[in-house]
Amino acid sequence: MNIHEYQAKELLSKYGVAVPMGKVASHEDEAEYIAKDLNVEKFVVKAQIHAGGRGKGGGVKVANSLEEVKRLASEILGMILVTHQTGPEGKLVTKVLVEEASNIATELYLGMVIDRATENIVIMASQEGGMEIEEVARTNPEKILKEHVDPTVGLLPYQCRKIAYFLGLKGKTVNKAVKLILGLYKAFTDNDCSLAEINPLIITNEGEVYALDAKMNFDDNALFRHPDVEKMHDPNEEDPTELEAKKWGISYVKLDGSIGCLVNGAGLAMSTMDIIKHHGAEPANFLDVGGGATAEQVLQALKMILSDPNVKAIFVNIFGGIMKCDTIAEGIITAAKEVGIEVPLIVRLEGTNVELGRKLLSESGLNIITGKDMGEAAAKAVEAAK
Ligand code: ADP
Ligand code: MG
Repeated sequence: MNIHEYQAKELLSKYGVAVPMGKVASHEDEAEYIAKDLNVEKFVVKAQIHAGGRGKGGGVKVANSLEEVKRLASEILGMILVTHQTGPEGKLVTKVLVEEASNIATELYLGMVIDRATENIVIMASQEGGMEIEEVARTNPEKILKEHVDPTVGLLPYQCRKIAYFLGLKGKTVNKAVKLILGLYKAFTDNDCSLAEINPLIITNEGEVYALDAKMNFDDNALFRHPDVEKMHDPNEEDPTELEAKKWGISYVKLDGSIGCLVNGAGLAMSTMDIIKHHGAEPANFLDVGGGATAEQVLQALKMILSDPNVKAIFVNIFGGIMKCDTIAEGIITAAKEVGIEVPLIVRLEGTNVELGRKLLSESGLNIITGKDMGEAAAKAVEAAK
């Protein structure tokens, strides 16, 4: 799960991470009121969407007066902000963060992620702040320091000093950075984060160290331990079909291809996408109805697939274990009657009650293409989508 910058900053400041003063607003008057309360001379108005690159996209603006804060807030609120992370369709801005503008001397980078290979948390730091770190990693990997933290020992102060020196810090700013890095690490581990990124981490002209931007991702499987984090979830940021899928207990991820997939089990769903690619086409979605889906869930899943106008064929790939093939067949037949399936439907069934499932389908009068195995069925699906 992702949260907004303003939420990440609120959370991080509880851990002693220094952030600029500021508050979130959803109306221009509220933005002006917050600015007045900040009692500073220069402000920044920042669009709150779950995507980076807002600065370049025109979603981060400096204001020199309360009137300007109000005007910029009214411009940014309601805009469709397009950045390299939103895709060309962009994202509607419904909230802005109004904060004091910092006098930036240096922009640095600080990030933490879980490194599966070493089973550690790895801290990344670079003097190339404010830029895309992926780009730095590609062109100048030596400009990124990677410091591994053994989770059983925890992050030690000497490691933070090493990071601070690598960032070129001196004197009092070293201690301030150490405090910030320790705070970020504690926030990361306490809340089961999978990623925390401060880009840029800044040093101000006055020698303060601030997290000027903040991005945090949380492990969905650990959210039950953090109801306060879960409350920060913003449904506006999610694909509506993916939200609908969650309601029905279905894992659905929309993709860009033309072949809709309905599969049971995440592993089979992945290999179904692979085999579609292998035969030269692209999947329109990942969809796992789960191990013990009901006919109702199958119906809902088919509706979701059909709601995507890019879908040119549907490939149902089911291995009946706990899930019975006749349940799938029933779901398909009901869906066909209820919503009408106008694109070719390719079905591969195997496993529990497969004979009964096949019989139901063949007696349904539906125009269904079958395959004797996964490879053949996938090839037929790709052919049918053309
Ligand atoms: P994004 O990464 O989505 O572009 P950031 O929060 O990193 O958004 O902001 C982009 C840039 O805007 C920063 O690199 C910084 O130069 C400037 N900026 C952001 N917040 C402030 C602030 N409070 N004071 C001064 N400049 C800021
Ligand atoms: Mg940023």
